[in-house]
Amino acid sequence: AKHGGRGQFRFYSADLKDGEVERQELLDDLRDALVEDQLELHYQPVVRCEDSAVVGFEALMRWNHPERGMVPPDSFIPIAESTALINRLGEWALRRACADAAEWPESVRVAVNVSPKQFSQKGFLSIVTNALAESELAPDRLELELTESVFMGDSETVEEMFDQLKKLGVRIALDDFGTGYSSLSYLRAAPFDKLKVDKSFVDSCTGKDQNSAKIIAAIIGLSDALGMDVTVEGVEAFDQLELVKEKGAKFIQGWLYAKALPLAEVLERMEAGEWKIEPDG
Ligand code: C2E
Ligand code: CA
Ligand code: CA
Ligand code: CA
Repeated sequence: AKHGGRGQFRFYSADLKDGEVERQELLDDLRDALVEDQLELHYQPVVRCEDSAVVGFEALMRWNHPERGMVPPDSFIPIAESTALINRLGEWALRRACADAAEWPESVRVAVNVSPKQFSQKGFLSIVTNALAESELAPDRLELELTESVFMGDSETVEEMFDQLKKLGVRIALDDFGTGYSSLSYLRAAPFDKLKVDKSFVDSCTGKDQNSAKIIAAIIGLSDALGMDVTVEGVEAFDQLELVKEKGAKFIQGWLYAKALPLAEVLERMEAGEWKIEPDG
């Protein structure tokens, strides 16, 4: 970061996050990062189990820090979320992701994480509308990933926003399903196109903990019954893949297939025909 005086290399570790000074410095650096183009989106493939076709990518934010290298989102998104800065980061991500996806084959979607604060900000609908208009991306190629915490907001406003987004034609996924204070009434109230089974269930699904596998199966059953897609995330090992397929998973994301990759690498692999991708339109 440029601001004189601070100058020194910082370690944005979990311990330091507790300190107000460090928190402020991280926020300052992050504001600089936006202006100085240090943020990047990396893309992780979403794979259809049936035929291993890549049907989409999740956009995951990275901070290419001048001294610190690639900073993972868990070390800065939560802090940005405690201020209005998340709105700017989120808008940047949405526009970047739509512009990038517009260059991909038409069968390929892009999923963008949206923080609850961003979702409840006044201008959110027009931010989404503008990102689509600028990029000329078809609305149904954009999937917004929301967590249950969006329902903490004023329920009428939340419902209204869902209506507007559905009218616009974008897809909506419920992220980290089962990890928060899940209430199934959310599923009744909101028109989700997809549920995402959190990695924490997959981590333990092939071990002694029989419940994780059962919960995965139940979430898949629930989404089938409600006509929603389901993606199981965090599949790292072959035995996990086998298990989630056996439980009926149609889509997976995980290191077993690929990590989140920089855009250039995604394009290279597409070009090289390394991934099975359905052709345009
Ligand atoms: P998430 O939305 O649950 O994203 C999935 C996380 O799991 C990503 O971590 C992804 O890289 C990681 N992952 C996927 N497959 C595997 C696997 O097989 N093994 C392991 N160990 N990890 C796997 P990442 O990229 O570090 O992102 C962490 C979180 O940061 C995300 O969790 C999301 O909540 C947040 N985030 C990332 N980008 C954005 C963004 O643009 N906006 C917002 N609001 N949040 C974001
Ligand atoms: Ca996500
Ligand atoms: Ca997750
Ligand atoms: Ca998440």
